[in-house]
Amino acid sequence: MADVPAECTIKVMCRFRPLNSSEVTRGDKYIPKFQGEDHVVVGSKPFQFDRVFQPNTTQEQVYNACAQKIVKDVLEGYNGTIFAYGQTSSGKTHTMEGNLHDTDGMGIIPRIVQDIFNYIYSMDENLEFHIKVCHHIIGFLCPQGCTERFVCSPEEVMDTIDEGKSNRHVAVTNMNEHSSRSHSIFQINVKQENTATEQKLSGKLYLVDLAGSEKVSKTGAEGAVLDEAKNINKSLSSLGNVISALAEGSGYIPYRDSKMTRILQDSLGGNCRTTIVICASPSAYNESETKSTLMFGQRWA
Ligand code: ADP
Ligand code: MG
Repeated sequence: MADVPAECTIKVMCRFRPLNSSEVTRGDKYIPKFQGEDHVVVGSKPFQFDRVFQPNTTQEQVYNACAQKIVKDVLEGYNGTIFAYGQTSSGKTHTMEGNLHDTDGMGIIPRIVQDIFNYIYSMDENLEFHIKVCHHIIGFLCPQGCTERFVCSPEEVMDTIDEGKSNRHVAVTNMNEHSSRSHSIFQINVKQENTATEQKLSGKLYLVDLAGSEKVSKTGAEGAVLDEAKNINKSLSSLGNVISALAEGSGYIPYRDSKMTRILQDSLGGNCRTTIVICASPSAYNESETKSTLMFGQRWA
């Protein structure tokens, strides 16, 4: 515990995905210019983060830099949150989930789950663990409660995620549209009890795949869909405000301004660890959206 600072720590990472096939077919220009491990220039504007990941960065490298330390802290009884922020199709789900069943392709969530269980398997018999997972989906047009579940193996956690996904498939016909308009919060609680000493420890982790951050005006939305898009933009800005208030050490943190920040309240602030992964497209086609995405994260980097 000694090496965890008493204050909230916020780390901001930035990950660029490779050009996708339609961007290549269209002949889009590749715009980021990477400088060292923590700088990137987009359209002559320089940005600095705790780390910048180039498109060839592996899932394992991203995990090691973004999540490994947080997992260690959670197992020592701290709370933490990891967010993926960016426009639709920038690589948020790839970063948070990736391919759940492929060793190289696994994103942050399956790697965390694996690390937690490896830790449990390595501990002595006097320690009793209770792992609870819960998947919250926050979307105005598709409200869905969260079902809590105790789990005993990494496979069981992956099954929970797969199930959640197929339920969402049933609930909405257009999965891409749906996931771009909802926040997905995957919660893992780890309780430990030493049966010899009765000492207890609990930590909690929120892994958040945020709704697409693109501007409402660009989506061409109308009616209820437009209201929802506005709602999402509002919830993303209230998340930004909460993180800013925490970063500034403000006495008032506006947690109650959105449903998401209310859920995350006890894992943001205090002595919690927060990592934000800003996800971005390298294509000139997305330049202005990419710049506003990077600006969002730049505030705390
Ligand atoms: P988002 O969740 O932000 O909408 P996705 O994670 O679904 O975006 O990514 C869009 C597409 O790009 C997916 O097909 C995904 O596999 C691919 N992709 C995203 N990031 C990377 C990456 N770093 N390397 C390779 N492919 C990626
Ligand atoms: Mg996604």
